[in-house]
Amino acid sequence: MDHALIPIADKIDAGRRLSLEDGRTLFATGDLWSLGQLADRVRRRLHGDVTYYNINRHLNYSNLCALSCQFCSFYRKPGQPGEYQYSLEQIAAEAAQAAANGATEIHIVGGLHPYLPFSYYTDMLRAIRQSAPTLHIKAFTAVEIVHLARISKRPRDLEAVLTDLQTAGLGSLPGGGAEVFDDRVHDQAFKGKIRSDQWLAVHETAHRLGLMTNATILYGHIESIEDRLHHLLLLRAAQDRALAANLPARFQTVIPLPFIPDDSALGRLPGPTGLDDIRMLAVSRLMLDNFAHVKAFWIMQTLPFSQLSLSFGVDDIDGTVVWYDITKVAGASTHQEVGVRELRMAIRQAGFQPVERDTLYRRVIRHGPNWRVDDPTPAPGSEVGV
Ligand code: SF4
Repeated sequence: MDHALIPIADKIDAGRRLSLEDGRTLFATGDLWSLGQLADRVRRRLHGDVTYYNINRHLNYSNLCALSCQFCSFYRKPGQPGEYQYSLEQIAAEAAQAAANGATEIHIVGGLHPYLPFSYYTDMLRAIRQSAPTLHIKAFTAVEIVHLARISKRPRDLEAVLTDLQTAGLGSLPGGGAEVFDDRVHDQAFKGKIRSDQWLAVHETAHRLGLMTNATILYGHIESIEDRLHHLLLLRAAQDRALAANLPARFQTVIPLPFIPDDSALGRLPGPTGLDDIRMLAVSRLMLDNFAHVKAFWIMQTLPFSQLSLSFGVDDIDGTVVWYDITKVAGASTHQEVGVRELRMAIRQAGFQPVERDTLYRRVIRHGPNWRVDDPTPAPGSEVGV
């Protein structure tokens, strides 16, 4: 083992928190295998050999967006070729189809639509509740929530906006829109989007209302290693506050997302390498000691890579995503799908035990498209930190 990692290994074994300086060492070490072993040690302490997946449906209701983030190849402006928007009837029908096929969750995000009223979003949630009552609705990034607060003319009342959405059927928030918590990167790559304080405020408000949330970091573009560490430490501090205040909800999962240059305004950049991807997952596992889960989003990182990531701190590889338009693996077709059997086999081949979960990490007992949660209490490891 790289000698610089030995004191960090001691801390991990003693259950002590890693410092910013430790994080720098983890990013600097050339000993990737030992880094992976340390992350694996923590992952197995929390989850043993279990790897979670879920059966879900991603739905991106519209690609029309008021912003033009540099790393984004998803958005369109009104009148541009390729723009689209789902009607409420289409969304209800897609949700019903997903539920009939056995999905436990629908994951909904979209652009910041320039014209749709707030009622479109609450009506969307109610329509899904009606057409697919068993589906958990995980919807709207913090960026969209702030947009909805603006269009509902309550820019400062996040609690009222989230309460309206929760009443209409919202079950939890995804973790998108965080990008990198740094003002320089913000101003260069996604000016106009909310800054870290607003992103964190949305999630803290959601936690107070009992809505579980996730967190992401979009890495591998113009940010520095220091920026990545700063981002992880801000997430860790926010989770500390939620736990200290005994809020009814908190962050469940961190999902490190690699920047994919294709067709974006930052397309000249190479994007992260596979080694960077695996390091980012392992460091996230080690630095975020109060997050229960680390997810590899296979649709961006490929299923074979996700298999490897399970030995580098990852315990969740998301689900049988049937449609995902926002970003995709370079060169892949837009429609990416993987069956349950394929997903379970990939997990087993990597030496882990596949466990289907619902959005709240409860084990799912399944008979074809019919399912129930095994135990209404959270799965082992979801409740505590390292
Ligand atoms: S990343 Fe989101 S907010 Fe930014 S341009 Fe793309 S869709 Fe719009």
